[in-house]
Amino acid sequence: MIIEANNPELKSWVEVPTNSDFPIQNLPFGIISIQGGKPRVASRIGDYAIDIKSLFVLGYLENLPFSIEDFDTDSLNQFMKSGKKGTRELRNRLSKLFSVSQMDLQKNDHHVNQVLIEMNQVENLMPIQIGDYTDFYSSEQHAFNVGCLFRDPNNALLPNWKHIPVGYHGRSSSIMPSGVNFHRPKGQMKPPTAEEPVFGESKLLDFELETAFFTYEGKPLGDNITTSEADEFIFGMALLNDWSARDIQGWEYVPLGPFLGKNFASHISCWIVTLDALEPFRVAGPVQDPKVLPYLEYTGDKHLDINLEVIIQPENGDENVVANSNYQYMYWNMNQQLAHHSINGCNIRLGDCYGSGTISGPNEGEFGSMLEISWKGTKPFKMNDGTERKFINDNDTVIIRGFSSKDGVRVGFGEVSAKLLPALELSKSK
Ligand code: CA
Repeated sequence: MIIEANNPELKSWVEVPTNSDFPIQNLPFGIISIQGGKPRVASRIGDYAIDIKSLFVLGYLENLPFSIEDFDTDSLNQFMKSGKKGTRELRNRLSKLFSVSQMDLQKNDHHVNQVLIEMNQVENLMPIQIGDYTDFYSSEQHAFNVGCLFRDPNNALLPNWKHIPVGYHGRSSSIMPSGVNFHRPKGQMKPPTAEEPVFGESKLLDFELETAFFTYEGKPLGDNITTSEADEFIFGMALLNDWSARDIQGWEYVPLGPFLGKNFASHISCWIVTLDALEPFRVAGPVQDPKVLPYLEYTGDKHLDINLEVIIQPENGDENVVANSNYQYMYWNMNQQLAHHSINGCNIRLGDCYGSGTISGPNEGEFGSMLEISWKGTKPFKMNDGTERKFINDNDTVIIRGFSSKDGVRVGFGEVSAKLLPALELSKSK
């Protein structure tokens, strides 16, 4: 099906800077506060937020399946109840309103001033009230690297890895929007040379380069979503930094998997780029050998070409690019992940978040975590200022950026950025 808003020929009457992630072909959704005001639903074009609540009040969203409550609110959840049909219609309407060929809004300066807000007047808030959070482990190179580091290079992938999109249930309470800083976690760990476990600040604090996708309301408990149906249940994507405390994780993860090494902080970028807007950037995935079970088979190009970049910026320092990767390196695609997640009858709900797993490419410079970049601390990364990083230092800011590009159109996510603050003092019982 043709999505009108994706037409690469479209031009907006709003000036969009060259290399902006937010041309008229993107029109992502998010939640903003304008100069500290009440949260509301917004989109973005160039360096402006589009105040969708005001568009609704001014009558530009007539004959769409929405009411004021869908936009005068602090999350996208209400508006996502309209499903893919509704969110697609809204994005198409925005596309028309901001297209050079349409005069309705363009000619009305008074309305334009109410609707278009310069981004420096806007605070991006958490876009979605996330219900459940699932994190997958779907990049082959990442799984291979971790297998080499902790097990055996000759048997790096565990026997199940090419048969199921491995995942675990994470914790949604500590998922934050870009820009909210956090403190170094503390916990129990057992250093390789220690006889007994010790308690302290995590010394091996790491980022994980990931993307996330968010679902509309799925099917009821007991039913499953097929790979061919999955697109209809996926609203959109964001960048995800799934922070990990490797030393806490290393001691705790057997036998039940990740727990406190993972659930202290994860950050997402604030504009949710719709799956519709990403359709032009579909690419074929890797050949899956051995053949997957029938419920994981899929047809068509279901992977996506999204350039990804990770930066470490020390306090008052320059940006250091530590990794470039691409979402197309995923072995399992979102359709397979969702089909697998629901094949046992697990219900998928509106606002659930699914992490891709760390995305590493096959080449030097394409690894999506410090664990891999520094090869477990044995190959420190050299920074511009002469210092080295094995993992993340206090007061380092980690920034992930991502965009797709084709036919002269660039659709991007902006960034997810957060600073690691020193650990807080421990509260102790008296
Ligand atoms: Ca992860």
